[in-house]
Amino acid sequence: MNEQKLMACQECDALQRIPHVDPGRKALCRECGSLLYRNPRGGMERPLALMSGAFLFYLLANLFPLVTLDIGGASRDTSLAGTGWALYQHDMKLLGILVLATTVMVPGTLIGGTLYVLTGLYWKKQLPGMRNVLLLLSHMHPWEMADVFVISVLVALVKMSGMAEVIVDVGLYALLAAIVLGIAARGGMDMFLMWELLERMQGKPRIADSAIDAGEAG
Ligand SMILES: [Zn+2]
Repeated sequence: MNEQKLMACQECDALQRIPHVDPGRKALCRECGSLLYRNPRGGMERPLALMSGAFLFYLLANLFPLVTLDIGGASRDTSLAGTGWALYQHDMKLLGILVLATTVMVPGTLIGGTLYVLTGLYWKKQLPGMRNVLLLLSHMHPWEMADVFVISVLVALVKMSGMAEVIVDVGLYALLAAIVLGIAARGGMDMFLMWELLERMQGKPRIADSAIDAGEAG
């Protein structure tokens, strides 16, 4: 297959043709040497497996209590959504919303959306709205979100420990496992490769005729 992909370097804007890159190898910018594109070893299989694991742990995190609060001898389980709601009701509205966003909405969107696109790409099936989901995912930065998530959970636990004794439960461990697996899955996939696969599936590959050739490295 002699299909050529066109890509602009994110560092120096040099437009170049991407050569066929074998799995486990990468393409480097001809001008400045920065990483253009990486073809992950094992293709979509590894990210798909990791993301399925993340999805299962995410379901567990929603099914099991996140923490148990011991208030004056009476213990109460708090779920993922319940933790945010409890904070919201205890005059910590902003923190409650932050916890809800970082523990429920953002991971849910990232994990569910990525799994959806990976499933379609792996089985070469066009699923409704795949383009829009991939576009949304392209704008999300999992590392930054993991930071926000960890900080908000820590702050929430410290805040709640003032009101009650906090015992960490299965749900929180499951949530952490989901986030770690999700980040590992995202680390093993390449957005450019996903766009390529999607566009090839939809019959419009990006073909370049006027660009320099990118370098290749192992
Ligand atoms: Zn460059």
